[in-house]
Amino acid sequence: MATVKKINEDVPDVVLMPKEDFEMPELKIILPKEEFRPFCPHDKIRIWEYHRIVECYGCGERLDPFDYLLNVGKKENNKLSELKWLGYQVKHKNEEIEKLKKEISKLNSLKRKAE
Ligand SMILES: [Zn+2]
Repeated sequence: MATVKKINEDVPDVVLMPKEDFEMPELKIILPKEEFRPFCPHDKIRIWEYHRIVECYGCGERLDPFDYLLNVGKKENNKLSELKWLGYQVKHKNEEIEKLKKEISKLNSLKRKAE
């Protein structure tokens, strides 16, 4: 066992960590190394229902199902927000067009009276 040294005899509760190397315990259970990517630049996936695997249809990269679903959800939410913004823009532009049409109509009326 490693020895523990006191830093200072005046400070008995503070000690240095052992400096000697200690041997790491050997792993008893070896887990397979699984590497998932959260997303892929390709937009098609293949789902292997029996093996519960999601992989990219384009490159075959194995994807983490939760991360993939989370990314899809975020993209869908962003698209919905963008769609709402565009709808607001269209409504606003249509209102401006109606105002301009009325203004043109008034000006044409004034022009006819002046002639
Ligand atoms: Zn891919």
